[in-house]
Amino acid sequence: MKNINNLTIVMYHYVRDLKNSKFPGIKGLELSSFIEQIQYIKKNYHPVTMEEVIYCIENQSKIPDKSILLTFDDAYSDHYSNVFPILQKNKIQGSFYIPSKVITEHKVLDVNKIHFILASSFNILRIIDDIKLLINSYKSQYKLYDFDYYYKKLAHKNSWDSKEVIFVKRLLQVELTEDLRTKIVDILFTKYIGISEFEFSNELYMNEEDLVNMLNCGMHIGSHGHNHFWWNALTQSEIENELNLSCDFLQRIGVDMTNWTACYPYGSYDDQSVNMLSKKGCKLAVTVDTNIAKTNKEDRFLMPRLDTNDLPKNRAEKPNKWYHQA
Ligand SMILES: [Zn+2]
Repeated sequence: MKNINNLTIVMYHYVRDLKNSKFPGIKGLELSSFIEQIQYIKKNYHPVTMEEVIYCIENQSKIPDKSILLTFDDAYSDHYSNVFPILQKNKIQGSFYIPSKVITEHKVLDVNKIHFILASSFNILRIIDDIKLLINSYKSQYKLYDFDYYYKKLAHKNSWDSKEVIFVKRLLQVELTEDLRTKIVDILFTKYIGISEFEFSNELYMNEEDLVNMLNCGMHIGSHGHNHFWWNALTQSEIENELNLSCDFLQRIGVDMTNWTACYPYGSYDDQSVNMLSKKGCKLAVTVDTNIAKTNKEDRFLMPRLDTNDLPKNRAEKPNKWYHQA
């Protein structure tokens, strides 16, 4: 059934010339595939701006047929060097979601450290051996179980990752306490990446000047929190603090705060974070749930997105099911 409020939102993370990069194992989109996907989008969809989407939500007006909005998470320098020129050339607006800590403190998010640790070594079993040794050495101090307990519990493959990769990600992103997670990630980062966090942060992420430049060229920049925490794990004052730090940053770089938007880190929404966004005047927020979004007022803080992998990466390809549902 046709719905006059349907909006396709696409989510991107790393977009780079992977094959010729220092970390060809990183899970990202090849730049050449991005170029093709943009041509596919231009051929089949109607790219809209965030301001148009907000207008349609506020006024409950019809959004153009096959409307599409492109979003880019985590402030990667890929987005400035690779994505931005292509969007400009094709006159398409991108929406960029920035965890402000990486810009203001030159840190590297733990989740990114884990991506690069996994991409750095050809043999993941070596990393798992290191983790085994570390679990043993911290066992009494942190009252840990045996390594085998964690491995049995966490190492289950899904459609994206092997059981070994899932084990490393779950153990270091969720299972251990934050303090110990950070310690282990830092030890592995030093061993496998071998450059300072400051230096790596400057390579991996955009800087303030890049963001200001993109804003001046009509791109949209929104909140992805400050620390990239799981918002559904925070207390009310913690989520408020995350949004305050993030909004202060957006305001400072020149974002129009009458039209600010947000993106839940890891898609981690809950009632409390939705209410806090609403209270702070946020206009809409995007999740990582896979679906076509609707520009209804009641859905504006839970707008699902497709992943880049859900759309063809070849301009000549026939439209797929997401086109027909849009
Ligand atoms: Zn993120």
